[in-house]
Amino acid sequence: MTKPLVAITGASSGIGEATARAFSKAGHPVLLMARRMDRMEAMNLPNAVLRQVDVRDRDAIAAAVRDAEAIHGPVDMMFANAGIARLADIGRQPPEEWDEMIDINTKGVMNTVHAVMKGMMERRHGTLVMMSSIAGRKVYPDHTVYCGTKFFVHAVAESLREYLSAHDVRVIVLSPGVIETEVLSGVLDETTLANYKSNKAKMGGGIGAEIVGDLILNAYQLPQNALVQEICLTPTRQTY
Ligand code: NDP
Repeated sequence: MTKPLVAITGASSGIGEATARAFSKAGHPVLLMARRMDRMEAMNLPNAVLRQVDVRDRDAIAAAVRDAEAIHGPVDMMFANAGIARLADIGRQPPEEWDEMIDINTKGVMNTVHAVMKGMMERRHGTLVMMSSIAGRKVYPDHTVYCGTKFFVHAVAESLREYLSAHDVRVIVLSPGVIETEVLSGVLDETTLANYKSNKAKMGGGIGAEIVGDLILNAYQLPQNALVQEICLTPTRQTY
């Protein structure tokens, strides 16, 4: 039997890439969206539609979804994952870094969800997975605006979950702790980066992105009337 289409933003590396691989291995066609086409092409996944999309561009996401759905049918799982972490001491952080995080991590997530929500409601079927963070549950003094963006995702996910439950659409919010990815390449403040790396070393490093991808697949594979509302996954030694 043909499996439904799944769509992922930020699919060119890290957790998005790992999730694309997990769903592809399980036999799903995939719509992969990110800015780095070469990285998505190198994954060489079967039945994959690749689109160069910046999540700040609402029309581009909608067009990518339309293209992929014309080939593989409706998107049944959307992973609004794309994000950046410009962690910094707020006293010296340039405001342009807030703008970027707010636009990508909050409006980008809304643009992504918006592209598929109506169709899922009409079909009374579908799953939205929204990328927050452990930093969307608690605050850290050098994560100020990043925490703000992730608290935003938490609040929207919880509100959406209530709104969509009557339409049988599931909303899962994902709150990982330290995962081994390229995310630290976005930290431009050297002191914050050094502190983060030192804390990470103390907890024995981050955990593999493939663990996150497999967990999302497991949650998705439950029957549509069973919902894992939140996945909060950290290294065992992470206490903060
Ligand atoms: P990576 O840096 O490896 O992946 C980030 C992904 O987001 C890339 O595929 C990147 O693709 C994409 N992306 C960034 N900006 C945009 C944009 N404007 N438009 C489209 N795609 C974009 O890090 P992670 O896998 O760790 O990050 C994924 C998500 O997980 C983020 O939202 C992050 O905040 C969250 N997270 C990560 C944790 C960790 O410890 N790693 C912990 C908690 C949450 P490209 O540059 O090609 O566009």
